[in-house]
Amino acid sequence: MNEFHIRSDVRTQQRYLAVSAKGVHLKDHPLLNKGTAFSAEEREQLGLLGILPPKISNIDEQLARVREAYSQKGTNLERFVYLVALQDRNETLFYRFMLENIEELLPIVYTPVVGEACQKYSHIYRRGRGIWITPEHADRIDAILENVPQEDVRVIVVTDSERILGLGDQGAGGMGIPIGKLTIYTAAAGIYTGQTLPVCLDVGTDNTALLADPMYLGWRKPRLRGPAYDELIEKFVAAVKKRWPGVLLQWEDFANTNAFRLLAQYQEAICSFNDDIQGTGAVALSGMIAAIRSKKERMSDQKVVFFGAGEAASGIAEQCVTLMKAEGTSESDARRRIWFVDSKGLVLAGGRPLPDHKKPYARDNGEVASWKVVNPATITLLETVQHVHPTILVGTSGTPGTFTEPIIHSMARHCTQPVILPLSNPTSKTECAPAHALEWSEGRALVATGSPFPSVDYNGRKVRIGQANNAFIFPGVGLAIVATKAKKVTQGMFRAAASALADAVTPRDLSEGSLYPSVSRIREVARKVAIEVARHVFEEKLAGVPDSKDVVKLIDASIWFPEYLPYRYEPRG
Ligand code: NAD
Repeated sequence: MNEFHIRSDVRTQQRYLAVSAKGVHLKDHPLLNKGTAFSAEEREQLGLLGILPPKISNIDEQLARVREAYSQKGTNLERFVYLVALQDRNETLFYRFMLENIEELLPIVYTPVVGEACQKYSHIYRRGRGIWITPEHADRIDAILENVPQEDVRVIVVTDSERILGLGDQGAGGMGIPIGKLTIYTAAAGIYTGQTLPVCLDVGTDNTALLADPMYLGWRKPRLRGPAYDELIEKFVAAVKKRWPGVLLQWEDFANTNAFRLLAQYQEAICSFNDDIQGTGAVALSGMIAAIRSKKERMSDQKVVFFGAGEAASGIAEQCVTLMKAEGTSESDARRRIWFVDSKGLVLAGGRPLPDHKKPYARDNGEVASWKVVNPATITLLETVQHVHPTILVGTSGTPGTFTEPIIHSMARHCTQPVILPLSNPTSKTECAPAHALEWSEGRALVATGSPFPSVDYNGRKVRIGQANNAFIFPGVGLAIVATKAKKVTQGMFRAAASALADAVTPRDLSEGSLYPSVSRIREVARKVAIEVARHVFEEKLAGVPDSKDVVKLIDASIWFPEYLPYRYEPRG
């Protein structure tokens, strides 16, 4: 049962929060706590007299205190822990601080710092957020969801933590990712934090260091696999649909063996998507659109080599194909402009067995028969680049330093402005530092990365490194789905999102060398993305609300801004 509702005063039209709780409960509830900003009248009427220091602050004074405390933290992990504590204490103040410092704080609450926080989760744990489901709970998931106090959950991010960023299996520590992602949904798109729910399906871990750690907080068993795993997921989805029928479910950081099949199995059954596949596809496509626009070329003119052939590569490649098709290229010709290189070399047809997601991009052996390579069964990235002459090189391998000088040299020899996208996260996993990509291409490369990088000084020219951050895409997509009550999520919605993001790239961004807007504009970008995606939802006739003539108004009305409303006590009943 919700303990609060936003209402409007019938006489003055002033918005207020009707609360059915009193006293310390208000101070201890992160969605209701105003800390020292409870007014004298509220303290009097809500049982808070004497429970707070006498001085009544406004939110700006509170922000000054937060700023001071935050600035005293010495490491990024300490900053992370401080922010989590603030979020768990007072969500309004936390989000206000986020909005005012979004560019600085995003890399703390999400990649790269969240990666370290996931690795050290059991050691920095303070207070639980979200829900945990282990295999022992398989028949009690309904009861667990009933324990969630929010009645109106609209967005769930769920992980089983098997592929956390590029860091692999993090067991219970993976919970940092759904929490971080939902924080971005709220900070970037204004989805009300009380309508979000992070979920960790803690099915055990195969990370031996975690299993051996006496402080480990997770379910201390090897990972559940096979039919029992599938059954748990099925029960989870059924329980979610029962409790919150219209909810958006985002699959997050599942290993690719599960990610592809879960998406295929459930995307029609429940309104859901996988950000690692679809969100990544859209954000990378947007960077490519910005690059080819500035080069006055078409997507169908490009040759794209992927290093790493997992979820991200598949998601991006699918979006490239969709765009080439929209330009009039046939599907098979579009796929022939894409090469996948994985840990065993160039992906070829008719050799080793391939998982389904690699098959559409497997090259014919005939194509490589004339190539001069050391071992035709394991053609390296360098050999692929030397023979293909790609115009776009995408790194989604999670293996650092793999875009070497000879590779970039070879690419730059055949392409005036090579597009180089080392997307692996966190920073320690990047395929190539942007400074190297620029140096080895004589400053000609158009570079964007997965993690944030500072600007590069190349021969006296300051080059801003754009970040292919999924946070430009998923919050706006989520907001559109929540606002339109969309029945399902489609590839077309991600195309619309990619194109809205590319449209937000200014001539100035491009002249500074960046294929993306500055992260400081993320809230404005998320709104633009949401508007375009919502239009698309109506076009596809998937909305659960009546067709809106004014999509902008519909989106704006759904955006929550963190501010303190006056409180009035209204007992239940
Ligand atoms: P994944 O596990 O699905 O795929 C990783 C792929 O890399 C697999 O195909 C694997 O075979 C391959 N690989 C592993 N070692 C390799 C090696 N030595 N050489 C070549 N290939 C190798 O993971 P994913 O979801 O595709 O993510 C991959 C990376 O991309 C991660 O680091 C992730 O953080 C990053 N990523 C970035 C963004 C972004 O920038 N917006 C979005 C999603 C993922």
